[in-house]
Amino acid sequence: MPYSDISQVFSSSLQKLLQDRERMLSTLMSNLKGMVYCCLVDQHWTMVFVSEGCQALTGYSADDLLFNRRITYEELTLEDDRIWIREHINAAALSGEQFELDYRITHANGSIRWVRESGVALFNEQGELEALEGFIQDITAHKQSEQLAREAEERYRSIFENAIEGIYQTTPAGQYLNFNPALARIYGYDSTDDLMRAISDIQTQIYVEPGKRAEYIAMMQCDGRVLNFEAQVYRKNGDIIWITENAHEVRDLNGNLLFYEGTVEDISERKQYEQQIEYQATHDTLTGLPNRTMLADRLQQCMHFCDRYANKLAVAFVDLDQFKLINDSMGHHVGDQLLVTMAERLGACLRESDTVVRLGGDEFVLLLTNVQKIEDLTHTMQRILAAVVTPCMIDGRDFVVSCSIGIGIYPDDGHDPNTLLKHADSAMYKAKQLGRNNFQFFTPELNQALTTRIKIEYRLRHAIENEEFLLHFQPKVDFATGAICGTEALIRWQPPGEPLISPMSFIPVAEETGQIEEIGRWVLINACRKACEFQQRTGCKFPVAVNVSPRQFRQLDLVNTVKSVLQITGIDPQYLELEITESSLVHDTRHFIQTLHDLKALGVKLAIDDFGTGYSSMAYLKDFPVDRLKIDKVFVGNLETEPTNVAILKAIIALGHGLNIKVVAEGVETAYQQQSLQDMGCDELQGYYFSKPLTAESFVALLKQQDAELITAPIGIYV
Ligand code: C2E
Ligand code: MG
Ligand code: MG
Repeated sequence: MPYSDISQVFSSSLQKLLQDRERMLSTLMSNLKGMVYCCLVDQHWTMVFVSEGCQALTGYSADDLLFNRRITYEELTLEDDRIWIREHINAAALSGEQFELDYRITHANGSIRWVRESGVALFNEQGELEALEGFIQDITAHKQSEQLAREAEERYRSIFENAIEGIYQTTPAGQYLNFNPALARIYGYDSTDDLMRAISDIQTQIYVEPGKRAEYIAMMQCDGRVLNFEAQVYRKNGDIIWITENAHEVRDLNGNLLFYEGTVEDISERKQYEQQIEYQATHDTLTGLPNRTMLADRLQQCMHFCDRYANKLAVAFVDLDQFKLINDSMGHHVGDQLLVTMAERLGACLRESDTVVRLGGDEFVLLLTNVQKIEDLTHTMQRILAAVVTPCMIDGRDFVVSCSIGIGIYPDDGHDPNTLLKHADSAMYKAKQLGRNNFQFFTPELNQALTTRIKIEYRLRHAIENEEFLLHFQPKVDFATGAICGTEALIRWQPPGEPLISPMSFIPVAEETGQIEEIGRWVLINACRKACEFQQRTGCKFPVAVNVSPRQFRQLDLVNTVKSVLQITGIDPQYLELEITESSLVHDTRHFIQTLHDLKALGVKLAIDDFGTGYSSMAYLKDFPVDRLKIDKVFVGNLETEPTNVAILKAIIALGHGLNIKVVAEGVETAYQQQSLQDMGCDELQGYYFSKPLTAESFVALLKQQDAELITAPIGIYV
């Protein structure tokens, strides 16, 4: 092919190529999200070329912008940005570099748009900056999301910095990666730097309990998080506080564990409060001893321990004798102090491993573990009795209380806490019955006795409602005249269709349960009525004696009760005699004497019953406005076999006479006893030798018979 042909072919294909390229570029440019431009570097940034993207970018058509026909690019640019843009472009041009800058333009619709312009400077042949060529794209959306991200970051940083909770990130190995000021504050460090510098191993330097971090990691491995993880931690100064943590694992996209992230809250105050609540729930506020709630737990624990090591455990029920009396008469302040002292004494008598519990009131329970020999237990109990009975000085006064103890042994006397405690309680009750200030071991027979007692208590309630009581009367005889000079009303209980029940069986129960008050009132009224009846029917005038139990005596309104009974029955007060036992005076002598005087002021007669058996009242006797001393039958009953009693009887008679008080001998059963007492100068006698207690009718018959034949010698009437 000739050259001209070749060149023609070549130039036409080149031309096609060039045309294709131009078309391709134009297609490309028109599809670009943005505007390709060429502008002059003049005060307007006069556009000499803009691509189709101009419309979308600025809201103006290419024609509007080209050669500043409608608007200049300078005008489009936000005023605030104009100067620095020009400076920036000039600087880039001078250094021959490409430039890239973000700034704002005003869109034709009035909205502000962020744009990113990147381009190069074009120089003329003289090397002068002439034009720019480049690309401008709308980055408003990108800028907005950047802004949002920044704001979010700022917000979270602020939360992180200002949170009250500690926030942290730690490596699985136990080092801090990051944490907020609150964490440093909670742990007592001056600053985050201070904490970061100080702590290189969380387990050993933060957690108090060994293995706590391992526990945390194990939970993380299991659940990927820890919830309400409570732990004790050291503060910088060594103090220990309680914290709770909530944390979770943070992993990368491939699932690799990066770190743990979590929060820490100081819960020391709550813990302290919880501990306080728990302490209050399980301890007695007065003595600080464990209470009933704690006893249940401890007892159960001790029982398990016994089962495992084949040991024995003793449960001792301790009840202070006469405490209620002191508490009621001396006030709670004295009672409280007494309890505190007794609690201390009980504790001091036991080993470290034993437990003293205050059940409430004056009741304590001792748990004695690892009991080897009963003798050891006996020694401990003796120690306790002695410790309790030691005088206790409160407000400058000495108080003496004793205690009664009942003991149950595990597993012999009960297999569960309730039974064991119940049995120890029964044994304690037995100790009370045996005169207090002693200890008793539980026995199955005792259980039986207790069951009977409970039955009596239950049936007594109905007895009061159904008036199942009646009175028997035992005469008293004047030694000088041989005539009946008085009678004692003695209560009997007659449940329908059953044999009579002796007061010995039910009075102590009634005394303990308080039923005695109601029963006592019944006796008073009925004895007075009978006394009036006896006088009317026989013309005999002498006092009817009524027994007043210690509890009745302590009753605040006893004097008023007696007064109202006198009024109701219309009895002449001198024909009512009240028999009071020495045990009524045990605690509050002042109150005892005052009550005697108040009663005496009503005009009734007073007698001290069972004299000689109670606590020595010799010293006070001179202050008692009493008319009779009734020598207890123990001194009379064995006169034949125990001649030494003669001395006691003589002393009591002399004492009574010395104080101008008549002396009555109770329980006179034989002629020998009667003769001896008469020889000793005793004033009156009461006993089976003369007459057993009689029904009211038999007593009236006896009085009538006496009236008929003046009695000079004792007669033996038995019912
Ligand atoms: P107490 O007041 O010392 O009454 C005397 C007790 O001795 C009576 O027993 C009587 O039957 C008994 N007794 C009398 N002579 C003899 C005797 O020669 N030999 C013997 N072995 N015993 C004799 P009782 O009736 O069984 O009463 C026992 C106790 O019950 C009384 O002792 C008294 O403390 C109490 N009691 C009886 N009735 C009442 C009452 O109405 N109220 C109160 N609070 N207690 C009462
Ligand atoms: Mg009596
Ligand atoms: Mg008596």
